[in-house]
Amino acid sequence: MHKNLRFWLRRIGLGLVGLLLVTSLNSYLTSPSNAQGVLQVGTEPAFPPFEMQAPDGKGFTGFDIDLFNAIGEEAGLEIQFQSMPFDGLIPALQTQNIDAAISGMTITPERAQTIDFTRPYFQSGLAIAVRKQNRGEIQSFDDLENKKIAVAIGTTGAQEAAKIPGAELFTFDNSALALQELSNGNVDAVVNDAPVTLYAIKVGNLNNVEVVGELLTEEYYGIALPQDSPNLEKINDALDELLESGRYRQIYQQWFAGEPPDLPLVAPALEGEGATFSWIETFQTLFWGALITILLTAFSVFFGTIGGTLLATASISDFKPLGWLTRIYVDFFRGTPLLVQIFMIYFGIPSLLQGIGLDFSFNRFAAAVTALSLNSAAYLAEIIRGGIQSIDQGQWEAAQSMGMGWMQTMRYVIFPQAFRRMLPPLGNEFITMIKDTSLVAIIGFEELFRQGQLMVATTYRAFEIYAAVALIYLLLTFIASRVFSWLEKRLNPVQRANKRASAQVASSPEVASRSV
Ligand code: GLN
Repeated sequence: MHKNLRFWLRRIGLGLVGLLLVTSLNSYLTSPSNAQGVLQVGTEPAFPPFEMQAPDGKGFTGFDIDLFNAIGEEAGLEIQFQSMPFDGLIPALQTQNIDAAISGMTITPERAQTIDFTRPYFQSGLAIAVRKQNRGEIQSFDDLENKKIAVAIGTTGAQEAAKIPGAELFTFDNSALALQELSNGNVDAVVNDAPVTLYAIKVGNLNNVEVVGELLTEEYYGIALPQDSPNLEKINDALDELLESGRYRQIYQQWFAGEPPDLPLVAPALEGEGATFSWIETFQTLFWGALITILLTAFSVFFGTIGGTLLATASISDFKPLGWLTRIYVDFFRGTPLLVQIFMIYFGIPSLLQGIGLDFSFNRFAAAVTALSLNSAAYLAEIIRGGIQSIDQGQWEAAQSMGMGWMQTMRYVIFPQAFRRMLPPLGNEFITMIKDTSLVAIIGFEELFRQGQLMVATTYRAFEIYAAVALIYLLLTFIASRVFSWLEKRLNPVQRANKRASAQVASSPEVASRSV
């Protein structure tokens, strides 16, 4: 009892010290105000010509970047840009991890409910992009009904495309990926900010894409700040000054042809109403996401096991070149990030095949299962090989001396014993797979994590929704780990024998009469 108390006290003490360390480190690392006068500005640098990586790979460049640097000079603020996903900008502002965000962000009433915007600094609008060969088929918004449309997550383009009846939406992390998807022929159209699409066509490698019809919307970009930010007035004043002094015009003309349009003081959209949040809808959506995650795991484990078994068999075969080939395979898939493999398979292979004139595109489910299975086959191969090789050589010899062939020895003697040893690492692999499926969100596949991300992008309830997502993953991995430990117990011959023995004892008449 005494010892127990001391144990717990020590644990609580250690926990407190840890918590203290983490919080002080956290405030040191993330508090935007830790350096006086330095403004941490979030941006998603895959939105040229507004923000993109500088050609030398150091820092960022673009209209927004030049503009904010000029604002900094005007307002006497030092600016530090931070790269983050577009749908992460508003949550980061809410938690004040950043002081401001400039990312071609449209001023919308929904966003204005949770963050503050400066006055508009750019007039924009959404446009439809199609592949040149489909020209004529899609000429206006109405022609998009029942079509496949790629959009960037959390953007006004995604919001607008969601209103099209029967359209199938493919959501990507940024508009560059969505446009690549169109160019690869996996979707019929992209709904995205016109200046960005036009720039991508002109400067990027998208010569098979074009913009159709007129602008779908009129939008204004604003700089986003946390609510009640002390910097709002400073930045607005600096913007006014840049507009008046002609510096704004100068920066504008560096990036766009022609004269900048007159900008209103307040974005017209702010007269509308924001969206509402409902827990019931959230759980319904996450439930579907979880089902897709389970399906994805099941398929990938199934194909991964087949692949892993074949690889393991090949690696222990006497034919040496087979062993080398499997080694290369295993090294490649274990030695490169799964994320890179997913990109290679989904974006790389179609663009390679199209480059040599083959019209090939990947179905997303197939691409996701392929990437996950190929990757897990490498790990499973090692587990299976290790399991088989851990069985004593004597067992082979014994089985063979009884006249068993290779197949029979494997089936009746080696594999049943090896399988029991493989179970714990197999369980680990299964649990890893459940979690790894979240990586295919990157190709717009709407499994559990992606469903959560999509909801955060429209409701801005980052904490609640990601906590719910995490809980569902936890539930799934918990169930999986219970099933594996149950299997382990069930397949344990010693335990099984003990159980059988105790069952026999309990039912024998002797014991029965003694207990009366
Ligand atoms: N203007 C769009 C929006 O605010 C897209 C911005 C972006 O992708 N960076 O939703």
